[in-house]
Amino acid sequence: MKFATKAIHAGVHPDPSTGAVMTPIYQTSTYAQRAPGDHDGYQYGRGDNPTRNVLQENLAALENGTHAIVYSSGIAALDAVLRLLEPGDHVIAQSDLYGGSYRLMVTQYERYGISFDFVNLKEARDLSTLVKAETKLVWLETPTNPMLTLIDIKAACEAVKGRALVAVDNTFASPYLQNPLDLGADIVHHSATKYLGGHSDVLQGAIIVKDDALAQHFKRVQNHVGAIPGPQDCFLVLRGIKTLHLRVQRASENALQIAKFLHAHPKVNHIYYPGLKDHAQHELATRQMRMYGAMLSFDLHTDTLEHASKLLSSTSLFTLAESLGGVESLIGHPATMTHASIPREQRLSVGLTDSLIRLSIGVEDVDDLIGDLEGALGGL
Ligand SMILES: *Cc1c(COP(=O)(O)O)cnc(C)c1O
Repeated sequence: MKFATKAIHAGVHPDPSTGAVMTPIYQTSTYAQRAPGDHDGYQYGRGDNPTRNVLQENLAALENGTHAIVYSSGIAALDAVLRLLEPGDHVIAQSDLYGGSYRLMVTQYERYGISFDFVNLKEARDLSTLVKAETKLVWLETPTNPMLTLIDIKAACEAVKGRALVAVDNTFASPYLQNPLDLGADIVHHSATKYLGGHSDVLQGAIIVKDDALAQHFKRVQNHVGAIPGPQDCFLVLRGIKTLHLRVQRASENALQIAKFLHAHPKVNHIYYPGLKDHAQHELATRQMRMYGAMLSFDLHTDTLEHASKLLSSTSLFTLAESLGGVESLIGHPATMTHASIPREQRLSVGLTDSLIRLSIGVEDVDDLIGDLEGALGGL
């Protein structure tokens, strides 16, 4: 099956008990047994739920894996990955990670004797010298937030050469734009809260693998640790996925047009979007991604918090809010919102200026979105 067909059909079958075409929400914590141990594989809701299982089968197909395992948030899914580690193990992670991922690693896992190196992996081949005997995991994210930097996943996996597990946080691209398992990665991670759910109404995380032993670890963590999503949340993500390809395609088309508009605007200084020819990694983006995605950032010639703040509060269609990947467009200010905990000098050194603005482009009419930005920029 091709992607669009998988999004709608993979793992989904009419419900055996009623023939219901759409997967029912099995809102139950437990299952009747005919005699002790005599059951149909379902014993207790933490271990298994039919709605969750359908979603997992669907997700495995979307990322060309054999198993998917879902958790109650993207961060809980990362936590399940970090539970592969033992005291003394070493992790290499990219320097400009999603803030919450960095925070989980440093505040929760360093104290168990696991060490982390956060490095700029723009040159993926550098990994070949960075991997040590104790290195068990390499954690990548591409494109990154909010600078839209890319990592060459294939080159990174080749540089690691199986000496450590390579995991890719594929949240920003979504499975429609890139599939890290096909490029050599061992583990794919998603915050399903974003594009997979797609409607800003659910939090969830997912792991996809194609190795049985890894799959068993992640399944055990679901049951032993318990950070599982409820059946209603699984239904919402499954429903969201049915239009994933349509949403990401339209949002990416909108984003390219908006990027071109901003690029030509006299008040805009720098624009970060991999789909523009002058993005430093445009060639890699063209090779690695099916489209260029729907996230972009830009800053202003007048680089002040006041100007940024005025712009942020004068859009009417773009809502000022954290998160991304929904049908509605969002606008955000990394310096005071998502990246406020990073010291200013450090922020500036990676281009995260006071006026940097991040957009998550939705699927509204692109003329209306451009009109909204035009009005807000005109008022500065
Ligand atoms: C949102 C996000 C996460 C965390 O996911 P939650 O569902 O919010 O727990 C991790 N990585 C990236 C890239 C994200 O955007």
